[in-house]
Amino acid sequence: MEPRAKVEEEAEEFEFWSDEMVKTKILKEEDNKIQVLLSKTDRSFANALRRSLISDTPKMAIDSVRFQLGTKEQDEEIWETTGPIPDEMVAQRLAMIPIPTVHDKFYFQDECPNCKDLVEADRGCLECQMIYTCVVFGTEEGRWVTAGDMKYLGEEALEIPDEYKTIPITKLMKGQMIEFYATAIMGRGRDHTKWSPACGVTFHPRRIGILNNKTKAKILWDMDLEISAKDFNKDGKLEDVDKVAVLSDELNHVGEGTEASRTFKNAITLEEVSGEFILSFETDGSMSPKTALMKAVEELSGRFGSLEKDLASSL
Ligand SMILES: [Zn+2]
Repeated sequence: MEPRAKVEEEAEEFEFWSDEMVKTKILKEEDNKIQVLLSKTDRSFANALRRSLISDTPKMAIDSVRFQLGTKEQDEEIWETTGPIPDEMVAQRLAMIPIPTVHDKFYFQDECPNCKDLVEADRGCLECQMIYTCVVFGTEEGRWVTAGDMKYLGEEALEIPDEYKTIPITKLMKGQMIEFYATAIMGRGRDHTKWSPACGVTFHPRRIGILNNKTKAKILWDMDLEISAKDFNKDGKLEDVDKVAVLSDELNHVGEGTEASRTFKNAITLEEVSGEFILSFETDGSMSPKTALMKAVEELSGRFGSLEKDLASSL
């Protein structure tokens, strides 16, 4: 079995694994949010993908910061590199800022063709690190230093995106200043959360609504909620993912413990679709959810590929 990822960007659908062929269909996609339908698969695969998203998907994050220390004289004022919070805390906050991650542009430092043979301390070049600089002076009323004050030393496309520019780092008063160089490198969430691009990763089996008893189901329709008999097809099934989610909530009105449940009984039930799961997650803004998904799949198939090689050589 040769694991491979066949990607059809246009169709918003892709398949991987040559034998089993897990099918993936994007149901909903926003800037940082995605909902995907996985089919022809099982719970363990969906969970492997979830874990891969959290801990294996490569991401750029600030890993070291060099603070310039000292005093500066400007406009007949003395400015000192000091502030309300310690440098370690500033560095920790910097690590959490989403750094735009372009996977084709940067290598992991230990895989970088220019750096992999160097000792760790000497690694770092244009192809395996991103450097941001920041110089900010305080004011009388206090001046917030935010992610937007960090300037990328390189092309503009890799600046911190507008929507994250307001992330606060520290606040400086008159006489206080900050100056640092922050270096981002590629890493994986299993080494530190700052390298994890995805959050809120969940999956659940896909369900469909089944209309078992038209007469008794009327109890629910009479409540005048969102879902009505018209939403079910002629076989008495409701398959639309969003509508099923609404139905699931609405069934609480006639569920266990309610007066209506005595007559309603199982007039409408929800049934799991075998082999189908709905996976949803958000990214931190360092990459699109689609990119994160593709990379997670790539990492996963890579892992299985090497496992297969190991097995083959030991058998
Ligand atoms: Zn390098």
